Formats: sequence, structure tokens, C-alpha cells
Amino acid sequence: MKISKVVIGPIDTNSYILVEENSGLGAVIDPAFPAPNLFKAIEDSGMKKLAYVFLTHGHYDHIFGLPAIKGKYPDAKIVIAEEDEICLKSTACSLASDLGLEMDPISADILVKDSSTIQFGTISVKVVATPGHTPGSVCYIFDNHMFSGDTLFFKTCGRTDLFRGSYDDMKESIMKLGNLPGDYIVYPGHGPSTTLDAERKGNRFMRKKQWSLM
Ligand SMILES: [Zn+2]
Repeated sequence: MKISKVVIGPIDTNSYILVEENSGLGAVIDPAFPAPNLFKAIEDSGMKKLAYVFLTHGHYDHIFGLPAIKGKYPDAKIVIAEEDEICLKSTACSLASDLGLEMDPISADILVKDSSTIQFGTISVKVVATPGHTPGSVCYIFDNHMFSGDTLFFKTCGRTDLFRGSYDDMKESIMKLGNLPGDYIVYPGHGPSTTLDAERKGNRFMRKKQWSLM
């Protein structure tokens, strides 16, 4: 699988562009904003068709490119966890209204939950529910690549103080990721990539003790 990244918007969101090379199918993870470099990256990727838009959660800085993507690629299927579908309709839930931003409501095509799978060419994409940052935060696993949204970052984890966040859920979710078998290359929603093994060693939130200190 070919992966490219563009960093977009006021809080430097990572949007990822994927191509499954056997089928030529393409996908976007979190189209942050309708920025020209996002569309250029999609065109430059060589994908034959944009098949999916996978959303790690429903915050505005991960979904604001959706209307433009759907306008240009109407067949691309929008994938989001059922608990965060409301963010596509409610600017209060997407936090856009906090900034006075507007987005027309948009419909999801595929609602996922923990252990859902989606076929992307030859890859069976696995969904891991990781609530905490939002109730519908998920990680998507493509072979040995994990897209972790705003749940797991390089050496830290996502905020739980925002509307609909849950500290207790985040604790469970980070422990759940740490307990997955094997290693993954981790692509967060902000900041640098990392690996699950590196985070097991160097991320204090993967140690149970850390949570009891907070
Ligand atoms: Zn977020």
C-alpha cells in the first residue's frame, strides 16, 4: 500500500492518502479541510478511483474537507463510527460551532463499530473502537499500518477535556491498543508517525501506573 500525507489547516491535521496497488483503489483518511494540496495529493497518488473516506472521528479539523471531496468524488464512501455520525450533522458535536465555522450536514455511507471490517482491494481493513477523545473515535488497521486519529500520538494521547470526551474511556482505549498483538506503524491525526512498540516503551499513557497518578 502506498501512503502519502498532507498537513492541513489551522491545527496541522494529518490527512493521509492511500493507494491499494493491486486494485488501484484509493482512500483518504480524515480529509481535514478542502485545501488544494489535498486534491493535488489525491491526483498525484495515481489512484484509479477514490473508493473510501475513512474518518477516525468527527471533529471539524478531520472532516471539513468532506463536502468538497464528495462534490468531486461522489462515489467515495464515507466511513465513520456510529457514535460520531452526529458530528457530520451537528457543528456543536464537531466543535465547529466553537469557532463559528459552518458545514452543511453530510451523510455517512458506512457506519462501523469495533471489529468491523471493510474490504479495500486486497486489504481487509479492521476497525478498533477507541473511544475517549470522542465516543466514536476509532483506529483503522491496514495490514501493519494503524491510523490512530486523535487517540494515540507520538509519546502522548488525545485530549479528553473536549465536548463528549471521556478520560476513563481513553484509559481503556490506550491500554487496548497497547495490548494488541504485534507491532504497527502508527499514523496519528496530528504530529509525527511512530510505531506501537515505540509507544509501548516510550509513551507514559501506555503504563497503567500513569493513570493512577493523574
Ligand atoms: Zn479531534
